[in-house]
Amino acid sequence: MKNDSLIMTCGRPLAQCLEEIEAFHGFKAPGMVLGLFMVHRAQELIGSGIEADVIVETRHCLPDAVQLFTPCTVGNGWLKILDWDKYALSLYDRHTREGCRVWFDLAKARAFPVLYQWFMRLAPKKSLPLEMLLEDVLAAGPAVLSERSIQVTDFYNRQKKDRINICPDCGEAFAAVQGERCLACQGKGYYRSRSQPS
Ligand SMILES: [Zn+2]
Repeated sequence: MKNDSLIMTCGRPLAQCLEEIEAFHGFKAPGMVLGLFMVHRAQELIGSGIEADVIVETRHCLPDAVQLFTPCTVGNGWLKILDWDKYALSLYDRHTREGCRVWFDLAKARAFPVLYQWFMRLAPKKSLPLEMLLEDVLAAGPAVLSERSIQVTDFYNRQKKDRINICPDCGEAFAAVQGERCLACQGKGYYRSRSQPS
């Protein structure tokens, strides 16, 4: 792939998308650049005017690319993350659940050794300078992706907001399923207090 001011990804010039990644992440994270191509391909396949939800199959990098380049976020419930460490995402019509799955194809990636080594965690990070890696990712682009049409059969349910209680000890609202008191006040929290509330 050449000339990233002419190539369009996710409705804008690739160069602009790369700047957005840098602004969001602090640098042009290769995983997010890869994710950008994946989101772009999935959007092309599903077509415009579809109310789409997304499922990603890894916690690493890919969720950020989805949140940056689609309206789907963890917070609005349109993005679901499966912690499977698979570099794949599915974009699907939230009404019909028909859509497409796009994934990083290892067989295709073998043609891009730096990218392959980085992805498979075969080489220490320091031996793969970011510039070199980024060059390989941009050279590869959609050439390392595969895709298929799918019907989503599970994990499509939105997490509903449940009933809440007020904790008699700390006075904070919390999910009622936790019981009478919030988990923190039951001694099952993740912190201890180092000062009085103020
Ligand atoms: Zn409490």
